[in-house]
Amino acid sequence: MGKVTIFDVDYHHGNGTQAIFYDRADVQFLSIHADPKVEFPYYLGHANERGLKEGAGYNHNYPLPHGTSWVEWAEAMEDACRSIEKFAPDVIIVSLGMDPYEKDPISKFKLKTDDFSRIGARIARLSKPTLFVMEGGYAVGDLGINCTKALSGYLDTVTIGS
Ligand SMILES: [Zn+2]
Repeated sequence: MGKVTIFDVDYHHGNGTQAIFYDRADVQFLSIHADPKVEFPYYLGHANERGLKEGAGYNHNYPLPHGTSWVEWAEAMEDACRSIEKFAPDVIIVSLGMDPYEKDPISKFKLKTDDFSRIGARIARLSKPTLFVMEGGYAVGDLGINCTKALSGYLDTVTIGS
């Protein structure tokens, strides 16, 4: 049985995903999101939620404050990527929410269009087969360019199979 990492970069905590895999050691879940003390889903997504039973240690939450911009966001991503490297999954699934974007109408994070390229590039450097799954994103006019940046950042960097 293979190991799977689910890396959720959506502005909101991946509460459903966390709940499904919370007691499993073969699925690692990491989520970077707005602090649930002040944002949806409010009741889950805190840093001390680390998993249960066999899943203990395989759940990683990075709640960040309103106003978070690239430097702080990237610091959380670095920590997450180190955990992913240590876990050594067979595949990575990215919950690609585009709502950490600075112009997103419901987000209070400050990521810029080019930051999505950096996210894609960093994930590519994990060198694992990767599936990007689209999630939230409400700055409708900029969704296309931001998605393109994330995927091209990945494709310009990835070296699997080459
Ligand atoms: Zn969201």
